[in-house]
Amino acid sequence: MIPMENLNILATVEDKMPSKFKLVTFGCQMNKYDSEKMNGVLVSRGMVPVESTEDADLILVNTCSIREKAENKVFSFIGRLADLKQNNKNLLIGLGGCMATFNKEDIFRKAPNLDIVFGPDSIQKIPDLISQRLASGRKQIDVGLSDEITWDSPEQFVRENGVTGWVGIMKGCDNHCTYCVVPGTRGREISRPIESVVNEVKDLANRGFKEVYLIGQNVNSYGKGLSPEVTFPDLLRSVEKVEGISRIRFMSSHPKDLTEELIDVMKASRKICPSLHLPLQSGSDEVLERMNRGYKVSEYLSKLDKIREAIEGISISSDLMFGFPGETDEDYQATCDVMEKVRFDSLFLFNYSSRSGTPASEHQGHISRKVSQERFNNALILHKSIIAEKNREMEGRKVVVLCEDTYNGNMKLHSPDGKGFMYGRTRENTMVLFKGERHLIGQEIEINIYGVAGYNLLGNLV
Ligand code: SAM
Ligand code: SF4
Repeated sequence: MIPMENLNILATVEDKMPSKFKLVTFGCQMNKYDSEKMNGVLVSRGMVPVESTEDADLILVNTCSIREKAENKVFSFIGRLADLKQNNKNLLIGLGGCMATFNKEDIFRKAPNLDIVFGPDSIQKIPDLISQRLASGRKQIDVGLSDEITWDSPEQFVRENGVTGWVGIMKGCDNHCTYCVVPGTRGREISRPIESVVNEVKDLANRGFKEVYLIGQNVNSYGKGLSPEVTFPDLLRSVEKVEGISRIRFMSSHPKDLTEELIDVMKASRKICPSLHLPLQSGSDEVLERMNRGYKVSEYLSKLDKIREAIEGISISSDLMFGFPGETDEDYQATCDVMEKVRFDSLFLFNYSSRSGTPASEHQGHISRKVSQERFNNALILHKSIIAEKNREMEGRKVVVLCEDTYNGNMKLHSPDGKGFMYGRTRENTMVLFKGERHLIGQEIEINIYGVAGYNLLGNLV
């Protein structure tokens, strides 16, 4: 029998459990996906999401620690919550994601107003951490990483939208690029069994989703350790069979693990979109070697040639990093040369950020912020000019987009009233804005392209 005094504590904890939560997400697609899980865990415990932090009695911040700048943004956001905590003594603040596993207990020193801290593998434990915080009065932390996939109930997730669904196919990373914290913050690479992935895709199809985005740090090494051993192309073939899903996308592909089999499956597929995210990082072999990327620029380019030959019109996006330790002007120029040669359709540019505990942080020849930023800025100008040219080539053409939602960005520059725009993506992943109504959401529609708005295209319904 539970002693009376313990029953009283339980009753008080239950009374004090938060009822309204606000979830704030920083970082990559993996984090957005984790936030959908967090949302589901809280909603299944009867809590209600609210729009503003002022209305919440639980604020959870899902974080990224890839770069110091990303971390600083989170610390300043949490710092600004101090006033809310002052005014509402019952407010609880939690932090999850990579910053939790990167900083561990030290996070409470850096952000004293946190109540609970949990890693990417402890999302299911959030309600317990809250109860323990309330029962004991002590701050709670669980940043352990598991050797198993800890999520398998997609029906619990609260999805961001109803058209494109993220589906995690693996977790962690075994690659050890010398600059990167991910292997430390997310642990060993573990693949999710095919049936589990397919069940999640079926669940999305049943709920009316049209597109799935298969995500992992290196989808090309999917299947390692599963029994029987399977490959990423095997998984794609299984996902292709799910009825109701018309578009399949995936990221990230590591260039060293991209196989001819993957190219063949993409070519043969009706559903896999002709769009590939293939992070290059640098156009210099010396820098790639020091990054421990496992490929040379010539190998990257020859794989790209094969892909472009096999799948006409495929769009290629990439990640590029500037200011890696020891990067010379010649190395930088080599990266720009690759940009001009490849003419990427989309790029994520990063200034190198030194992260403690990574091998690169010990490398010689750290580059000043000023030089790194100059290189970044010039590369951005080059990329924008390439995109402007590519986008101009699209004017007057007809494209098919999958309409995703109403567009909430700033359209005043492009439309006198700034209202009424919807957005969708082509199969090549270009965003197109057009005037339309909400009933178009989830439909594939034809659009005539008449103009350009930054990286996006502007069009009219045919
Ligand atoms: N696993 C993916 C891959 O290798 O393609 C990328 C994951 S990471 C979240 C996304 C990008 O962040 C990387 O491709 C890299 O360009 C950038 N990145 C990672 N660590 C970084 C660091 N210390 N400084 C700057 N950029 C970094
Ligand atoms: Fe980081 Fe490299 Fe793994 Fe990508 S592949 S997550 S950059 S270690």
